[in-house]
Amino acid sequence: MGLYENAVRQFTKAAKVMGLREDMIDVLTKPKRELTVNFPVRMDDGTIKVFTGHRVQHNIARGPAKGGIRYHQDVSLDEVKALSFWMTWKCAVADIPYGGGKGGITVNPKELSDAELERLSRRFFSEIQIIIGEDKDIPAPDVNTNGQIMAWFMDTYSMNVGHTALGIVTGKPLEIGGSKGRTEATGRGVRICVEEGVKYLRKNGKITKDNKDLTVAVHGFGNVGSYAAMLTAEELGMKVVAIADSTGGLYKEEGFTPAELSDLAEKTLARKTGVAHVNPGFKTITTEELLELDVDILIPAAIENVITDKNANNIKATLIVEGANGPITPEADEILASKGIFVVPDFLANSGGVTVSYFEWVQGLQSYFWELEDVRKALHTKMTSAFNDVISALEKYDLGLDMRSAAYIVAIDRVATATRLRGIYP
Ligand code: NAD
Repeated sequence: MGLYENAVRQFTKAAKVMGLREDMIDVLTKPKRELTVNFPVRMDDGTIKVFTGHRVQHNIARGPAKGGIRYHQDVSLDEVKALSFWMTWKCAVADIPYGGGKGGITVNPKELSDAELERLSRRFFSEIQIIIGEDKDIPAPDVNTNGQIMAWFMDTYSMNVGHTALGIVTGKPLEIGGSKGRTEATGRGVRICVEEGVKYLRKNGKITKDNKDLTVAVHGFGNVGSYAAMLTAEELGMKVVAIADSTGGLYKEEGFTPAELSDLAEKTLARKTGVAHVNPGFKTITTEELLELDVDILIPAAIENVITDKNANNIKATLIVEGANGPITPEADEILASKGIFVVPDFLANSGGVTVSYFEWVQGLQSYFWELEDVRKALHTKMTSAFNDVISALEKYDLGLDMRSAAYIVAIDRVATATRLRGIYP
C-alpha cells in the first residue's frame, strides 16, 4: 500500500468516530494541488542534467499551505502527497492559520557540489513560484535542506518579484529574518507535552511520583532529542537516565545533569559524530535496550518505525511522547494501548517546530522581531492549549488513552468547520 493511502487510513479511522460525512471525507482527503516540475540544471562540468521535483498543497481551507522541502533520492509524488496531508492535520491541531503543503526533489544532494546545489535550489524554487507566495504557500527546511538553502530560496523569490520577501520561507538564518528560538522549538514542544502528559496522568492516578523521581529515556540525540532531553532535565527537573543516537546509547542511573547533556550535545554537533564516540565515561547501552528500559517516560526522537510489534510488548514506560515522525507502527500502537501506555502523537508532540515557523512568518511579514522569551512564551501558550483541546476530545468521544485519534478529531473538526463556513465555490 502506498504511503498516501496509508495516511488516509489513519485519518478515516478518526473521521468515522466523529461521524464525518462521506462527501466531506472526500473533500478533505484529496490534495488541492499537485505540481510536478522537470527542470534542467547546469553541472560543474558543463553538462546539463534534468531533475524532477514536486510541490503539493493538500488543503488551504484555514490559510496558506505550509510544509518543508526535502532533497532525497527516494522522493516521489506519493510521498510528498502523504507528507502534505499530515501537515494539514499538524497545523490544524496546533491551531496555526495554515493548511498543509510539502515539496521535494528526487536527488542525492551529497553527489552535488555547493554550486550545483545552489543552482538546483534556485531553479526549483523559480519553477514552483507559480503556486507559492507569502500568502499562498510557505516552504521550510526538511530532510537534507537547511538555513542556507532557505536563504537561496528567499533570495531567488525576492529577485523574481523585485523586493525582499521575508515571509516566503521559514527556517531562514537569524541574520536574514529567522526567528529566535526556532532551533530549540521542536524539542521545547516535546518538553511541554511531557509536562502536560504527566499532569494528565497524575490526575488519573497513573503517575504518583514527583518530577524529580520520574525517569526519562530519549531515543535520538539530534536537534529534537537533545533539546527535549536538556529541557526535560533542566526545566522539569526530571531524571533523564538514558540517551541514544545511531552510534549507541549512554546510561546514568541518577540522571544526567543538564550540563552533561548540553556538553554531550555540543560535542556530538561540533565533531559531527555520535554520543558513543564522545562518551566521557558513562555506562553504555544499545539503542534497542534504551527503548525497553524500565523508565516512566520514553521520548522516541530519532526516526520512524522504532517501536513495532516486535518490541512493543517489552516497552515499560507509562508515557511516550513522539518527538520523531511515525516512530510507532500501527500494530505497535494497538499493543501499547492494550498495555495502558499513554502516547502523545507525533503531529501534536512535534508541532513546536512549525509553530515557531509560524511565528517567524508573522515576524517577517511585520518586519518586527521578537525576543527569545516572547517566542518561548507564545509557544508554551499555543502548545498547552493544543494539548488541552486534544484531551477534551479524548474525553468527549470516550477514547480511553487514544490521543492519536483524539488529535485527528480536533484537527479534522477545525478543517471541516472552515470548509463548511467558507462553503463550496461557486
Ligand atoms: P537529526 O538528524 O538532528 O537527529 C536525528 C537523531 O536520530 C540523531 O541523533 C541520529 O543519530 C539518531 N538516529 C538515527 N538513526 C537512529 C537509530 N537507528 N537509532 C537511534 N538513533 C538514531 O534530526 P531531528 O531534526 O532531530 O529529527 C528527528 C525526528 O524528528 C525526525 O523524525 C524528524 O522528522 C522529526 N521532526 C523534526 C523536527 C525539527 O524541527 N527538527 C520537526 C518535526 C519533526
